[in-house]
Amino acid sequence: MTAAPYVRLKGIAKRWNGQLGVEDISLDIEEGAFVALLGPSGCGKSTTLRLLAGLELPDEGTIHIDGRDVTTSAASDRNLSMVFQSYALFPHLSVAENVVFGLKVRRVPRAERQEKMARALEITGLTGLEARKPAELSGGQRQRVALARAIIAGQRLCLMDEPLSNLDAKLRNAVRKDIKKLQRDLGITVVYVTHDQTEAMSMADKVVLMKEGRIQQIGSPDDLYNRPANTFVAEFIGAPPMALMPSAQVAGFDENLTLGLRAEHVRVVPRGQGRLSCTVSEAEFLGSETLIGLDCAEASGLSVLLPGLRVMPEGEHVDVTFDDENLHRFDPSGQRIG
Ligand code: ADP
Ligand code: MG
Repeated sequence: MTAAPYVRLKGIAKRWNGQLGVEDISLDIEEGAFVALLGPSGCGKSTTLRLLAGLELPDEGTIHIDGRDVTTSAASDRNLSMVFQSYALFPHLSVAENVVFGLKVRRVPRAERQEKMARALEITGLTGLEARKPAELSGGQRQRVALARAIIAGQRLCLMDEPLSNLDAKLRNAVRKDIKKLQRDLGITVVYVTHDQTEAMSMADKVVLMKEGRIQQIGSPDDLYNRPANTFVAEFIGAPPMALMPSAQVAGFDENLTLGLRAEHVRVVPRGQGRLSCTVSEAEFLGSETLIGLDCAEASGLSVLLPGLRVMPEGEHVDVTFDDENLHRFDPSGQRIG
């Protein structure tokens, strides 16, 4: 018999006045895992996280944490910490006071508070900023205070809802690495909500991709990229997204399928030798390569990556080919075959 997972959501549904929030959410999370809830805005990520936190109660289903049924437990009884997009810092309190606030409320002795705070500030790189007020910090520093406050709580489960979305791109990268390192060093379990696939794919051991309140796929970043469960996942994951084409348009396929193809598997060939005949719609220089967007009658969203800087005028004719082994196959309902 295998041990029960650390967190288990089973058959969770949440509706507001009959309107769908989330439906049929079943998810197991191993202890020490970094799990990302990913999907477009409004797909139910925050609702799922809030249900796990105890900030909402489900209409259906059960939630277990560490072997205990917490489905109807108060948030304060669930032994977890949370970090939100809005840092939720007290503006009139200093960094130090913000970080130890929870410990003070719980009447943790002063010496212990000081020791824990020093450690949390060191881990988050905030040592020396104890006396500052939130208004005197950068966005990245404020988010670190929120992280320090979550760390100091000493909980083994930490829930984060888009904690980096208020930061600029460069800072986001840096704090992303900090969070990942913290999670590993502390050995805590993190459930992390984001609409940013790069964040999810780079940080998580397990990605849960959602759409319209339902889970579309649960898997490793490799699973989602290389074995998308359906056409929604295929188009959501990857930049550029996977191109999709009806099989009837491609020689050699007689079943009625949708075929998926990634840019890295498309090759430009001399005119007349391609499987698809296209024109250039745009060219985007990415640094080490150029992403060429292609228009063609048979496929939508087709593109090809060429090494280095390639100047390709819009409208230029391009023939491309690809190998059958690199095609993804989806049935008429969009579900992956094989
Ligand atoms: P996400 O975090 O993925 O952007 P949410 O979980 O916030 O999405 O929302 C999922 C759906 O539930 C949305 O349609 C949203 O409008 C709805 N919803 C969320 N919270 C409430 C609420 N308190 N009352 C009514 N509808 C809500
Ligand atoms: Mg949200």
